[in-house]
Amino acid sequence: MPVFSKESLETLRRRIDLVDVLSVHLDLKRTGAAYKALCPFHDEKSPSFIVQKGDTHYHCFGCGAHGDAIQFLMNHLKMSFLEAVESLAQRFQVPLEQVEGEKQGPNKGLLKEALEHACRFYQFMLLHTPEGHQALHYLYQRGIDLKFIKYFQLGYAPSVSGMLRRTLHAKFVKDETMVEAGLLREGESARDFFSERITFPIRDASGAVIGFSARKYKEETFGGKYINTPETALFKKSRVLFGLNYSRKRIAKEQTVIVVEGQIDALRLIYEGFNITVAGQGTAFGEGHVKELISLGVNKVYLALDGDDAGHSAMSKIGHLFQKSGVEVLVVPLPLKSDPDAFLRKYGPEHFEKLMESSNDYLSFLVKYESRDLSMESPAGKSQLVQSIAKQIRSWNHPVMVHESLRKLAHITQVPEEIIGVGQEQISNIYIKKSANIGLQTINADLIVESDFVRWLLLMRESAPQFLQTAHANVPVEALRVPACRRIYQTILNNHTLGRPCDLLSLSIDIDDGESQLLLSEILEKKVNKERAVQNFGEAVQRILDRNWMEQREEIRRKIQMGQSSDDEVSELIKQFDILKSNPPKIVA
Ligand code: ZN
Repeated sequence: MPVFSKESLETLRRRIDLVDVLSVHLDLKRTGAAYKALCPFHDEKSPSFIVQKGDTHYHCFGCGAHGDAIQFLMNHLKMSFLEAVESLAQRFQVPLEQVEGEKQGPNKGLLKEALEHACRFYQFMLLHTPEGHQALHYLYQRGIDLKFIKYFQLGYAPSVSGMLRRTLHAKFVKDETMVEAGLLREGESARDFFSERITFPIRDASGAVIGFSARKYKEETFGGKYINTPETALFKKSRVLFGLNYSRKRIAKEQTVIVVEGQIDALRLIYEGFNITVAGQGTAFGEGHVKELISLGVNKVYLALDGDDAGHSAMSKIGHLFQKSGVEVLVVPLPLKSDPDAFLRKYGPEHFEKLMESSNDYLSFLVKYESRDLSMESPAGKSQLVQSIAKQIRSWNHPVMVHESLRKLAHITQVPEEIIGVGQEQISNIYIKKSANIGLQTINADLIVESDFVRWLLLMRESAPQFLQTAHANVPVEALRVPACRRIYQTILNNHTLGRPCDLLSLSIDIDDGESQLLLSEILEKKVNKERAVQNFGEAVQRILDRNWMEQREEIRRKIQMGQSSDDEVSELIKQFDILKSNPPKIVA
């Protein structure tokens, strides 16, 4: 995470107008000095979501939701802390300066502006030039009408280089910016990056264009079917998911996603109401994409890639990545040689819904796929298949899923469970964990316990001040061991004692060191169940107390065992040890 200068964050904090931010996403009605809206965080008929004019926080009297602009963007749009800061900086036109020593990247605001201009230029080319009309004709043939094109702002990159550059020059965009945005190739010729292709803008969580996916529509055009913006400061190939800006909210709410292969498939599904769909960039769907979706809370994925060999092969790989991380995978049985776009156009959304309901679980799909060239009648063929799938299952990280899947594999293939090795998998898993990296695990244990503690404080510090009191009364700052956690905790306590503002941005300004700021944003990204706040916070405090208590005992034991103390000292130590032992730590209210 880039660390921004205190001054620029301070300017941003002063300039944020909460009402302005909310009004983009909610239907705010003014009543006196307050604004009211239907709360986006719970279902209601009459508005209890309120923000006072000039105030930095909103509050819902229905469900207790409470927060500032950053929290709103994080909770409502599922942005990360950093995304929220950057999107606010752009909205309120505050250039974020990076602290010296951090690598200065290109100005993201300028890149987004250039890309927005390019998006409009491409759309103009598609709709208003003879060359564009050929591409338009192709789109019409694929059942894509004008409404669809305008809704998703499809465009056309012309075959002749130079026009985009001239147009953007007229908008005061420099060549350098165009290169950094991935619109222009570097070098003498300064050729357009995209040529003779239909362009699909790719947007970030706040809807700003960060790149393009461009599809050729003539066989003879050079290059693959789709090409994407190269890696830029905005466009990170390994994480960008096409369509996510339209689907993000529902994916996070329903914890379910549909993954497809092509950009047109994704847009068609979204257009037809399945706004829980994303496409990987081509079939290059990797760990980064899985992580991105898991960070939105996804626990179930429908794979709806094309019904051909390439699609099936990709689904076996992508499915594995999700299963490995404990996400349930279902494979939508598209007819042979069909794709979601074609299917929807032919049969309509209701049939697609039915098709989804008849999805295969991943394991059944895999057995069918892997056995396509094998004879299941022959014992050798069957044994080979079972072994290879069992091996794959054992590489997954979730013991329960491994166990259940092995049992299922036995059932599907009708091979006895003992042969597949059901029941033996846990032993080997535990063994690997123990022998591999004990050192690392002890360090992580501190980090896990302490960031849990700090997370609840951050989340509840305003709606439930008793959390802070409990923390203050039980956990002195020195009791925390991870420096970044200690720093954040110290800052929360200080701000509270001094009655200073304690919104996330102020905190981040006060913390003022890169490692802690990074941890702050990571801590906040984890999904938690606020209904269990009291219990979970209590557990976190207790774990810290227990840990330190155990260690005090260990310390005394070590002293006794070193044998360098006199008899009197030893007897004193033993007394201390016994007192400590019979007084396990309890949380003081
Ligand atoms: Zn509410």
